[in-house]
Amino acid sequence: MEELKQRIVQEGTIKEGNVLKVDAFLNHQCDVGLFDRMGAEWARLFAGKRIDKILTIEASGIGIACVAAQHFNNVPVVFAKKYQSINLDGEQYATSIHSFTKQKDFHVIVGKRFLNKGEHVLIIDDFLANGCALNGLIELCEAAGVVVEGIGIAIEKGFQGGGDSLRERGYDLQSLAIVESMDPATGSVVFR
Ligand code: 5GP
Repeated sequence: MEELKQRIVQEGTIKEGNVLKVDAFLNHQCDVGLFDRMGAEWARLFAGKRIDKILTIEASGIGIACVAAQHFNNVPVVFAKKYQSINLDGEQYATSIHSFTKQKDFHVIVGKRFLNKGEHVLIIDDFLANGCALNGLIELCEAAGVVVEGIGIAIEKGFQGGGDSLRERGYDLQSLAIVESMDPATGSVVFR
């Protein structure tokens, strides 16, 4: 998506450790008009698919997913919640996810009543790097017996490989911008 690529080039900054900061429009301040056009683009890319629900993960995925849902017939958006530690009471699907940006593990849960067996789910998230977050969300979907119809990502860092391994596993993964390389010294970003 050309508009998103331009925003990354104009407003993104590259931090140590392969972190791309886009908090001027995606991760801290939210450009809702951009989110709306991202939602329209995913609706085009996933046209014809049955989507009963959108699944994302807190915090940055929520805003994007809620705006995108308006392009999918206002389907409900469910977000996985992160906890440092949890006491499971049997009412949640749970897994553990390693956070790339925070370099620690989180327990992640979704209430069982919000993912029903046989539903068709679109997963949406802001970033895809190594794929830990998505693999965790897919695990929750498998536990619930829902069908992952597709995965919509705003920014995929292609050089970290998480996206390619999901495509090899057969998932319909649509990233709106795929960063192939980025250089913290010069600030240059190359797209796939
Ligand atoms: P993964 O689990 O695929 O390694 O990383 C994806 C998650 O880590 C995303 O949900 C996002 O919150 C965070 N993340 C990974 N790389 C970046 C990055 O370069 N910039 C930002 N802002 N977040 C990132």
